[in-house]
Amino acid sequence: MSQDLRGRLVERRRRFHRYPEPAWREFYTTSLLVEELEQMQVDELAVGHETMRSESRMAVPSDAELRPWFERARERGASEDVLAACEGGQTGCVAVLDRGEGPSIGLRVDIDGLFIEEASEDHRPTREKFRSEHEGVMHACGHDAHMAIGLGVIEAVMDSEFSGTLTVFFQPAEEEAGGGRPMAEGRYIKGIEYLLCVHVGLDHPTGEVVAGIEKPLAMSHLKAEFRGASAHAGKAPEEGENAIQTMATAVNDAYAIPRHSEGMTRVNVGRVEAGTATNVIAEEARRCRSLTVIAYSQGAVVAYEALSQLAHPSVPATQTPLLSPSGR
Ligand SMILES: [Zn+2]
Repeated sequence: MSQDLRGRLVERRRRFHRYPEPAWREFYTTSLLVEELEQMQVDELAVGHETMRSESRMAVPSDAELRPWFERARERGASEDVLAACEGGQTGCVAVLDRGEGPSIGLRVDIDGLFIEEASEDHRPTREKFRSEHEGVMHACGHDAHMAIGLGVIEAVMDSEFSGTLTVFFQPAEEEAGGGRPMAEGRYIKGIEYLLCVHVGLDHPTGEVVAGIEKPLAMSHLKAEFRGASAHAGKAPEEGENAIQTMATAVNDAYAIPRHSEGMTRVNVGRVEAGTATNVIAEEARRCRSLTVIAYSQGAVVAYEALSQLAHPSVPATQTPLLSPSGR
């Protein structure tokens, strides 16, 4: 790698690191990416809604949650064209290099940050002045590095003898497992023969590159909602249909899916929320937001099917199961 390219990679990664934006709110991030990709003069560049099937987005925040991030991006100087293309939380972009005859290769890199407060003391980004400028949010999962890698790969391929097509997907909302599907159903995935993804870290030494399809990198989230009927717990409990009881059973049963580190699947129920009062049969066990499935490649499908069946035998397993069984 040339010193020039290395320097650019570091500089870009640090720039992205300073402005982390959570899932579907990557307005400024997308603008920074588009600025770089336009300078590189890639053969095709699609932004925001052009890159995906918007209806397939999952875990999209409300307008009230999106708005401050949209406005902040505008204040920072994000491109108005990019903002228009990303309106309503349709963030991300896709760049294509058309280098004639040959294989069609896709590379997916993710772009979102996490709601985690970045350390301020004894921390390299603080010392070297690229700490997050968005309090309470940081690039804690390395997606800043992934974006720099995506841009670096484009530059390297431009300088190479590669013959074929390279499509780089700068995918939003990875942390919410919400951005993969809309891009996978968008028009740029069609015809891709080999799709690659990258992730930094994972306890390998710096400088070591590992190729593989194992370990917990294929991940899905399920959100389940249980509905029952309310009743007074003392006066007439038999008239109620207890949504909490149903949820508790489903959660317990979910842990029957094998999840030890040598197996194919991991399952974790990370957050539940239900009920209104201690003396009321709960009508709803809702916003069971993180009935989270973390699985190895094909294991994800197995876990989806099993979890869907647990919650409602008639609900087919899909990428976006909406589980709403009776609370009986
Ligand atoms: Zn990550």
